[in-house]
Amino acid sequence: MKITKVDILYLAAVEHRHLVLCRVHTDLGIYGDGEVAGIHACRAAVGALQEFAAQIIGMDPLRTEEIWEKLYKGCFWGQNGGGITFSGIGALDIALWDIKGKYFKVPVYQLLGGKMRERVRCYASQIQFGWPPLYHTGQLTPQRTPEEYARTARLAVEEGFDAVKADLFTFRPVAGREGEFTREERGNAIHPRELQMIQARAAAIREAVGPGVDLLIENHARTDAFGGIQIARSLEQYQILYLEEPSTPAPYITKKIADQTEIPLASGERIYTRWQYIPYFENRSLAVIQPDIGNCGGFTETKKICDMAHAYDVGVQIHTCGGPLSTNIALQIEAVIPNFVLHEHHVNTRLTVNNGVCLQALQPEKGYLSIPDLPGLGNEISSEAYQMAQQVIVVE
Ligand code: MG
Repeated sequence: MKITKVDILYLAAVEHRHLVLCRVHTDLGIYGDGEVAGIHACRAAVGALQEFAAQIIGMDPLRTEEIWEKLYKGCFWGQNGGGITFSGIGALDIALWDIKGKYFKVPVYQLLGGKMRERVRCYASQIQFGWPPLYHTGQLTPQRTPEEYARTARLAVEEGFDAVKADLFTFRPVAGREGEFTREERGNAIHPRELQMIQARAAAIREAVGPGVDLLIENHARTDAFGGIQIARSLEQYQILYLEEPSTPAPYITKKIADQTEIPLASGERIYTRWQYIPYFENRSLAVIQPDIGNCGGFTETKKICDMAHAYDVGVQIHTCGGPLSTNIALQIEAVIPNFVLHEHHVNTRLTVNNGVCLQALQPEKGYLSIPDLPGLGNEISSEAYQMAQQVIVVE
């Protein structure tokens, strides 16, 4: 089997996001699909995909290790590279595993070690945007008051979720973003009034959902260590499962925060490849890693990272915030790893506009997603997505 061509789709502003997808074709007529991670996946990722796609034309798509190594070592930006590079390599690698699954007529998880669970526990992610009805056609709404956070958390719990994640910091109490003060106004510390706002929101959620629901907090790496520690300490009384990205991802900064709070820390959507994860494992700063398969090198790389995490007794929550394909992609690894923690089900997955880009858009039932048993990823890019795309580039 040989790779004959690669389609690259750029879908600008699906709601407030951009999607970059790819389809790898073969001479046997089998094709596989991949997705670049990130809700703001941009033209740079299209460029990376074009560069990498050109290098794999004519190669055997089943030889995923060989292809990964070729792209990693054969490109100047590969070794010790960042998100754009590993989005390009990752989206192609995902598509190659999709082909591999279809060729052998098994789901990708079967090739990664086989299922050790039939379904995964999900958390309702980013409820600071609300938790609108399924297939919502309007805009997402920033939540601002403690009452709004409580109501939103309750909506998710009533649907069956027993874990929710909120950013308590980004939206101001009345209008605008980033706490009550901008970074220019407050420097790197959090103002006491902002801490009160964050605590009031956490208290409202905890009171609304009770002690039987996991609460995850997200800082989106907007704070420095100083502010991250302030926020973490102010939330210790609310039974937080873990705090995500309390600072810019750097192993020694994460360690500094971990040493000064009881709340376990999580990070990973901006950490790429096994080499960049090693310092976090060795300094014991992370309880949970959150690699995104679509920006850290695909299945070939992410499976290795997950296994390394297991050796260090670190849990895995795959970062997922893209189109419907990204849900299927995450499930393939989450089904097989012993150190799986939770599946991220992002509020964006509830939007109709997002769901039309694939044949299906999996939704949890009572807070759990079943592992699909179709060959490959079990989902694919729709013909509508080709129509909706602002740009379709064919590399052959
Ligand atoms: Mg995040």
